[in-house]
Amino acid sequence: MTQDCKYLQKCPIWQKFSTSLSHVWIKSYCQGNKQDLCARKKLKEAGKEVPALLLPNGSSLDV
Ligand code: SF4
Repeated sequence: MTQDCKYLQKCPIWQKFSTSLSHVWIKSYCQGNKQDLCARKKLKEAGKEVPALLLPNGSSLDV
């Protein structure tokens, strides 16, 4: 079983979409096997600032 992303608790994307656990971001990234591909996680790991609205696939959340 895939482990949850270690940034999950503090991640705004998780907070926004965790009410829908079947959501594609949650399912394939935050709790799935694509989390190492997550654009947010990659920036974090590189010690860079993560834009608030950045989505796992590198696009931006529409508000
Ligand atoms: S959006 Fe990315 S950084 Fe945030 S919890 Fe999901 S996989 Fe982790």
